[in-house]
Amino acid sequence: MKKNQSEYLIKRNDTEYEVVIGLEVHAQVLSKSKLFSSSPTKFGAEPNSQVSLVDAAFPGMLPVINEFCIKQAVKTGIGLKAKINKRSIFDRKNYFYADLPQGYQISQYKNPIIGEGEVILDMPNGEKVVGIERLHLEQDAGKSIHDMDPQNTFVDLNRSGVALMEIVSKPDLRSLDEVNLYIKKLRSIMRYIGTCDGNMQEGSLRADVNVSVRKKGQKNYGTRCEIKNVNSIKFMQMAIDYEANRQVDVIEEGGVVDQETRLFDTKKNETRSMRSKEDAHDYRYFPDPDLLPLELTDEFINDLKKNIPELPDEKKKRFIEKFKLSSYEANILVSDIETSKYFEEVIKKSDVKISTNWITGELFALLNEKNLEIIDSPISAKNLSKLINLIKDGTISGKIAKTVFEMMADGDIDPQKIIEDKGLKQQSDPKELEKLINKVVNENQEKVKEYKSGKEKLFGFFVGQVMKVSGGKANPQLVNEILKKKLK
Ligand code: ADP
Ligand code: MG
Repeated sequence: MKKNQSEYLIKRNDTEYEVVIGLEVHAQVLSKSKLFSSSPTKFGAEPNSQVSLVDAAFPGMLPVINEFCIKQAVKTGIGLKAKINKRSIFDRKNYFYADLPQGYQISQYKNPIIGEGEVILDMPNGEKVVGIERLHLEQDAGKSIHDMDPQNTFVDLNRSGVALMEIVSKPDLRSLDEVNLYIKKLRSIMRYIGTCDGNMQEGSLRADVNVSVRKKGQKNYGTRCEIKNVNSIKFMQMAIDYEANRQVDVIEEGGVVDQETRLFDTKKNETRSMRSKEDAHDYRYFPDPDLLPLELTDEFINDLKKNIPELPDEKKKRFIEKFKLSSYEANILVSDIETSKYFEEVIKKSDVKISTNWITGELFALLNEKNLEIIDSPISAKNLSKLINLIKDGTISGKIAKTVFEMMADGDIDPQKIIEDKGLKQQSDPKELEKLINKVVNENQEKVKEYKSGKEKLFGFFVGQVMKVSGGKANPQLVNEILKKKLK
């Protein structure tokens, strides 16, 4: 099975199956208050401390639309290059759940706020466009807590009423890699615009995963299963892998796949049936009589458009054109808005090529090792830029720079100060270097003879020796030049 390439085929008894995936991503709107009430939305608060009478569905309470959340949804729609619907409707989706006190969820069904759009994935072999079907706003439910008491289930309503954007993709995804890139790209776009923090550990981004399989070359889609509420990319991939293989087995054994809703058990790494789709489907959607249709003016939409920052795709294009970065480098540098800011800060005063290498190499390795985000980088853009200039003007060698870099991480220390304090300045005085070279040549007369009789590979040995006696500080380029003359 080739599951980590863009073509993801499952082979059984000489038949190849293609996997088709569509995602319904639930992205929590970055907003201080809820979709229809003024309760706060802070993560990790004391249970039931952020619940108003509206969120607890007390009789007679009326929802009031939070304009900020509407703006956030429209901005996200702009980021997805999507159609903004000037008229949308909030419906009631009726179902019973212990943590849904209203007995229905206010959501958008036939008339969502955002229509068709697209997300571009940077695949190794070029770009792939994934269609967006729609984006609608809805409220989140509360949370049932089953593990605090052997007999009872507790309910925490802090999340009840929090605004979610459900972003529904077309069934355009074909591999686990594409799912990974799609989620990351969505997340990146929303973080650029500031409409969702994309924090998967805190549940700000989760997805229902729809999977079907079909024989390679077949035109029609197979019957899909929907796996509910998966909260990490890794689990999405594991769930898809399991589910696609299960469906292939069903078909190979002569059966048919039932359309159903399934759960992914992360401990057993398998999906299990929750309910068949038919039973679940009758939500008796109808327009919420407490809320008028939402109508947006052109002015409202245009004001938001004006304030959308440069997005990752455009930034990537600019980086490639202006700074001559490779597509690969540009991708890495734009994928996260904070990384792109850091990069642009460094190159204000430093060489682009060296900066790119140091950020994607040493800096990323350091952040990785310390498990830090770039915004908490122990080395500021300003000081990294200084270090890069010291390499560029020959004050220190690339090798010494690595040592200096490590020392800088200990409290964002100015590299100039480290070099002076530790005497790490590169030796570039030809006279001084000649002394060192003479010493090495004198002490290795045998090797000099061998070199002169044709063993040219030994040149590296001499360079190495000079570097060694200089404590790594000799300017390697000058050492090369002087040595060449000496050994002629
Ligand atoms: P529902 O409310 O029934 O879940 P939605 O329209 O909200 O329906 O979502 C359907 C999701 O399923 C979309 O993401 C879509 O891309 C995906 N999908 C539809 N048909 C298939 C299929 N045959 N295989 C895989 N995914 C599919
Ligand atoms: Mg759905």
